[in-house]
Amino acid sequence: MGLTGRVVRPDDPGYDAARRNYNERFDVRPALIVFCQSVEDVRNALGFAREQGMPLRVRGGWHSYEAFSLVEGGLVLDVSDLHAVLVSPDRRTADVGAGAQLIQLYQRLGQLGLTLPGGTCPTVGIAGLTLGGGFGLTSRRYGLTCDCLEEVELVSASGEVLVASAGQHPELFWALRGGGGGNFGVVTRFRFRVFPLEEVAVYTAAWDFERMGEVLAAWQEWAPPADPRLTSVLKLYGPQHARPGPVTSTGQFVGPLEELRRVLEPFLRRAPPHQLRLERKAFLEAVNFFGGDPEPDWSVHFHGDHKKFKNTSAFAYEPLPPEALETLCAWMEKAPTGEDLVQLENFGGKVADLAPRATAFFHRRAQFFLQYQAYWSDDSAAEDHLSWVRGVRDALTPYTRGAYVNYTDADLEDWPERYYGENYPRLQEVKQQYDPEDFFRFPQSIRSPGGSMVDSR
Ligand SMILES: Cc1cc2nc3c(=O)[nH]c(=O)nc-3n(C[C@H](O)[C@H](O)[C@H](O)COP(=O)(O)OP(=O)(O)OC[C@H]3O[C@@H](n4cnc5c(N)ncnc54)[C@H](O)[C@@H]3O)c2cc1C
Repeated sequence: MGLTGRVVRPDDPGYDAARRNYNERFDVRPALIVFCQSVEDVRNALGFAREQGMPLRVRGGWHSYEAFSLVEGGLVLDVSDLHAVLVSPDRRTADVGAGAQLIQLYQRLGQLGLTLPGGTCPTVGIAGLTLGGGFGLTSRRYGLTCDCLEEVELVSASGEVLVASAGQHPELFWALRGGGGGNFGVVTRFRFRVFPLEEVAVYTAAWDFERMGEVLAAWQEWAPPADPRLTSVLKLYGPQHARPGPVTSTGQFVGPLEELRRVLEPFLRRAPPHQLRLERKAFLEAVNFFGGDPEPDWSVHFHGDHKKFKNTSAFAYEPLPPEALETLCAWMEKAPTGEDLVQLENFGGKVADLAPRATAFFHRRAQFFLQYQAYWSDDSAAEDHLSWVRGVRDALTPYTRGAYVNYTDADLEDWPERYYGENYPRLQEVKQQYDPEDFFRFPQSIRSPGGSMVDSR
């Protein structure tokens, strides 16, 4: 079977740009990168990889934390040229090409006064984000990104074009809502429900390092049950972090400024910040405020400062007890630089409206979500950052549960349990039905029942 679409090989001038990943920790050299421009190109690339027995990876927005969308010596099937967004304002739906970046979607919908609950980083791909769940600053109001799906068009391992929805291939549709990217086929198009949203209110607050324990204690009691129109983020940095931190909180409220002030009051009364700002913003302004101004050119895959990093995550189902708060503050004191951080984000609201087994996204009952993040440029610093980020995660493991599949962490040996909890066996059944040979395979891909957990490639 011949390859169609835009094919980039190692000798081609665009090869190095085409094999990049947002996380520059990786240097992977695929044999072929196929930019598909149609469903037919996708089918041909799958057929080619199968005939040649080549390892295959599917790629959308290039933001996999562990570069799972690239493969050494294999074929990368890239859908980023499939980024059309067609909105039906009357039906309040959007048909979105699987290669769209979030900013393309926010801008297109924003022109019509509409939005979709997606992530914060403007260049993250809609495909990876949605397939793993997708959480952002309007999720407590409207749900996870995957909760807004009406249907998904996908090319299966056998080359069949399927549409999964509540009425067609319902088990596959269940699995595609939180089961993680790259597992069941190549998604070419999503249909989402979208929501009217013109304006939001946002806040930022900051505290000194010495106040960290007090702020944490106040935030974790206040934020999870707070008004579901508010999503609140708490960022903890090391003491060397430049002001206004090292403890900061930001959030977005789908409602008027005065109501946001009232919702914040119990938190700020318990932990008064040294800096506080509340503002109304047009929704698209708020997207840029939280995500950084987008590049003018949509073909740019990344924006802003991106370097080498290791991020990992966990969910808190209960408030952290006092000894865990002390442990967390002690680890922040030891952060290698002022750039490494732990970020907390409240769950609940609309995310918790569905049961943990209603879709493949399991961690709906979590009260908040923790991200442990380390960044560096110089390889000689890598070990310090890696051991810090693993250390803080392990120190808090007794008090937390699971991990977020979109914050893929190759170190996690018990990833099926952490990412999927009780949903893993059902995901394996879906894998058996739609990809019994594990054709779509990467180090943490869902395995057909009885399949090996060790990746041979
Ligand atoms: C800076 C940054 C900010 C982030 N912010 C958020 C956030 O606010 N909220 C949140 O929920 N997540 C966030 N994430 C995590 C993000 O959701 C994941 O990294 C996601 O997997 C990225 O998807 P992608 O398409 O960009 O990446 P890719 O590297 O292209 O793909 C990621 C995974 O999805 C698979 N995949 C990609 N396209 C397809 C397709 N068409 N069909 C089937 N499988 C496919 C790949 O095989 C791979 O396994 C962030 C990540 C980064 C790096």
